[in-house]
Amino acid sequence: THKRVPLIAGNWKMNLDHLQSIAFVQKLAWTLKDARHDFGTAEVAVFPPFTDLRSVQTLISADKLDLALGAQDLSAHDSGAYTGEISGAFLAALDCQYVIIGHSERRTLHNETDEVVAAKVEAALRHNLVPVICVGETAEDLEKHGASAVPVAQLRAALAGVTGAVDIVVAYEPVWAIGSGQAATPDQAEQVAAKLRETLVELLGEDVAAVTRVLYGGSVKAANIASFMRESNVDGALVGGASLDLDEFASISRFHK
Ligand code: PEP
Repeated sequence: THKRVPLIAGNWKMNLDHLQSIAFVQKLAWTLKDARHDFGTAEVAVFPPFTDLRSVQTLISADKLDLALGAQDLSAHDSGAYTGEISGAFLAALDCQYVIIGHSERRTLHNETDEVVAAKVEAALRHNLVPVICVGETAEDLEKHGASAVPVAQLRAALAGVTGAVDIVVAYEPVWAIGSGQAATPDQAEQVAAKLRETLVELLGEDVAAVTRVLYGGSVKAANIASFMRESNVDGALVGGASLDLDEFASISRFHK
């Protein structure tokens, strides 16, 4: 059987400028260092705004911090006349390992379609970035189609241009659970995560599906992380609001099963 290293990913959204990011990451690293002896099972990644990435990367490499770095989005294009966009090549040059793609806020506030998401996934993979592909149903979808239909369809679409032994992460984030304080139940998360893994088996094969981490996201906090981590198909969490609270995020990162 394959062992998947859990991933705890903190999506800061549009919060913390580059000075605040340095203070936060320093404190986070210190807090986790003490704990690593006791727990030490999860990979912890932070996803700051673009303008913070250079500062955080410098800090991680200078102090050899045990933290991974990711961006919150990237362009589908590699370079050229795309004012305001950020190339995956630039992110890779900054030692970003991960990039969030298709977050529900991008889909709804910036009209990102499944096609755009698929193009961005391909762009990430071209630059050896691990895409954290976000999928999830709205409350309306849930009522009409059940929990898994929309996330599975979004995953299929996102992987339209992808084959082979790719390194990806899938984040199941029910839209109704994001920032609402109303998380899915662990059982709901597990049901959809299992369906997403079946889809990965079908699209990318057993071996890739077995090592791909499927995260749950949506109102994760220190008080509920363990209940999600007990589920066999949930391999970590994508954390929004609680990733900005040092104690809360550190506790999430040190979850006990
Ligand atoms: C998110 O936006 O990815 C998220 C999960 O947010 P929150 O944890 O605040 O619900």
